[in-house]
Amino acid sequence: MSVLHIDAQVVDNREVIKDHRVITCLAPDLAELARPGHFVNVLASEAASSILRKPFSIYHADPHTGLVAMLYQVKGPTTVGMAHKRAGDRIDLVGPLGGNVFEPDPRPGVHHVMVGGGYGVPPLVFLSKVLGQAAQTPQITFIVGARSKDRLLCQDELAEMGVNVRPSTEDGSHGVKGRVTDVLSEILADDVAVYCCGPDAMMRAVGAMCIASGVDCQVSLEAPMPCGIGVCMGCVVDTTDGIRVRACCEGPVFDARKVVWK
Ligand SMILES: Cc1cc2nc3c(=O)[nH]c(=O)nc-3n(C[C@H](O)[C@H](O)[C@H](O)COP(=O)(O)OP(=O)(O)OC[C@H]3O[C@@H](n4cnc5c(N)ncnc54)[C@H](O)[C@@H]3O)c2cc1C
Repeated sequence: MSVLHIDAQVVDNREVIKDHRVITCLAPDLAELARPGHFVNVLASEAASSILRKPFSIYHADPHTGLVAMLYQVKGPTTVGMAHKRAGDRIDLVGPLGGNVFEPDPRPGVHHVMVGGGYGVPPLVFLSKVLGQAAQTPQITFIVGARSKDRLLCQDELAEMGVNVRPSTEDGSHGVKGRVTDVLSEILADDVAVYCCGPDAMMRAVGAMCIASGVDCQVSLEAPMPCGIGVCMGCVVDTTDGIRVRACCEGPVFDARKVVWK
């Protein structure tokens, strides 16, 4: 798989909920190669001392328009730098990165269930979109979790795509009061395949629930990745095979049965 270094043109950059923005760039070659679960390494910090790129999942990639988007939470030097970009500015991207991405379950009639929280939601929106383009429209449910209603991401967009959206909020301000696992427990069945991305505690709980039910579950790990290209070993994770692997190259997507959670 080719990895590109791109000086992309920003075409849009807007807030979607508080402190969360979507940046859209023109990057046709990247749009052609990107698959759900891939990420890009972004260099956008305005701090002169900052040389490290930061990883961001690909949220949308359209080979027809050449547009690629990332949904990001503004929290530190890189994401503040990204937030300052305006249409017409340039942004420095390396990607697509990731050696193992989401693999749609090929069983006919399978019920695809996404479980996402925080900035784990964007790669699963991309996956839902790709699955929805199949000739026979699949059944897709998207369990999206957040602390409160104002922090839920991508609900309207998913509903417009024909996805069955099942929100859960910890304070009960929208959807089921509780956690994503409270919704998942109602849905798990033999014909389900689960795809999960979000905070480690959430993925660990979702993975354990799926393993106990004998349901396949793919998790996309968001381990800190200093280089993102397999050199620094900063993102190694333990596996149940007894070997340590790099989340950036052997992941970021893993079978939940393989992950030893810290
Ligand atoms: C494969 C992958 C995909 C990602 N996709 C997205 C995405 O789509 N959207 C998005 O907003 N972010 C995503 N992230 C996380 C993003 O790369 C980090 O939050 C990044 O550090 C932000 O850079 P910054 O310079 O703005 O802030 P920083 O100064 O780097 O971080 C600000 C705060 O976040 C903490 N932090 C940094 N990285 C992580 C991490 N991986 N896990 C938990 N805490 C962390 C830091 O300790 C610090 O407290 C992804 C990470 C990975 C590994």
